[in-house]
Amino acid sequence: MQQFQVACDTCGAQLVPNAAYCERCGTRTRRARRLVRMAIRVELLIFLMFLALVVAFIWIYAVQK
Ligand SMILES: [Zn+2]
Repeated sequence: MQQFQVACDTCGAQLVPNAAYCERCGTRTRRARRLVRMAIRVELLIFLMFLALVVAFIWIYAVQK
């Protein structure tokens, strides 16, 4: 779903194309919110992969003893 946002959701001010924030009230645009959600998801995925790696190493170490 690709919606092009031209006005701020909060104050209705016109937005610069691809703006991350409203210049008038500072509200994050829908595009920026989506990017933030995506970044959080990627971060979480990397953290889970790291956690799985640590658990795997601990398991291998425990098994080899
Ligand atoms: Zn605004």
